[in-house]
Amino acid sequence: MMITPTMIALNNVYYQYRAELKHHAIKQPMPTCIKMHFDLQIGKGERVVVIGPSGAGKSTLLNLIAGFVQPKAGEIILDQQDMTQIIPGKRPVSMLFQDNNLFEHLTVAQNVALGLKPSLKLTPAQQQSIATILAKVGLADQKNRYPNQLSGGQKQRIALARCLVQHRPILLLDEPFSALDQALRFEMLSLVNHVCDEFDLTLMMVSHYLDASLAQFTRCLVVNKGEIVFNDKPAELYQPKYSNIATLLGINCKD
Ligand code: ADP
Ligand code: MG
Repeated sequence: MMITPTMIALNNVYYQYRAELKHHAIKQPMPTCIKMHFDLQIGKGERVVVIGPSGAGKSTLLNLIAGFVQPKAGEIILDQQDMTQIIPGKRPVSMLFQDNNLFEHLTVAQNVALGLKPSLKLTPAQQQSIATILAKVGLADQKNRYPNQLSGGQKQRIALARCLVQHRPILLLDEPFSALDQALRFEMLSLVNHVCDEFDLTLMMVSHYLDASLAQFTRCLVVNKGEIVFNDKPAELYQPKYSNIATLLGINCKD
């Protein structure tokens, strides 16, 4: 059996949001912020789907890996390097959010170029690189159009292309296709699979769909109340030994 190197490791990572100060001011009880604890190893090339109830900590898990939040304790090792103290822009990670954050006054190509160079002053090689990626996501013909001229699915392709031009080995997707209808969502998932192959990426994707799409992933994490409560192949979710997880997720096990 081939041994794949670890690409993402969270060693004893703790995190807790601070309660907002405004709650003091209006003398409301302090909201209890859940304590989160993550211990996790993901191998190079894995495709991991992250599911769990709303507010469980899925986005926080991705934000810890991307560096948008800092752990209170523990270490985050990415591509064999300790990245715990490293800013997001210097991590081997690109992240796509549910709200794709496109700029309406910039063209498709310019929105993608932002992933490479905020000044948009590109070298010919960089322009070529953007053209190549736009072709890969099926937007070559749309490069001079503006986001509001495009469909929801096309907008998420632009946002995905902006991640891909960075050529970072870890791709994090936070519920990226929730706004799309089912046919388009499956089409986008197959595009993601294709680009992961093509660019040799390690993928973590938050989803709230418990359907056939799960089978596309090598591994499934279930997060509940700030902890990983299931870490196995997606098909295992339906095994009797995990009936408590199935109940948590509202999966009806066929018996
Ligand atoms: P999920 O993505 O699974 O829905 P999140 O990671 O966004 O969950 O949130 C986990 C918990 O942290 C929730 O209880 C949420 O209310 C809380 N939380 C998220 N973001 C903040 C924040 N910026 N400030 C305070 N609490 C937050
Ligand atoms: Mg979330």
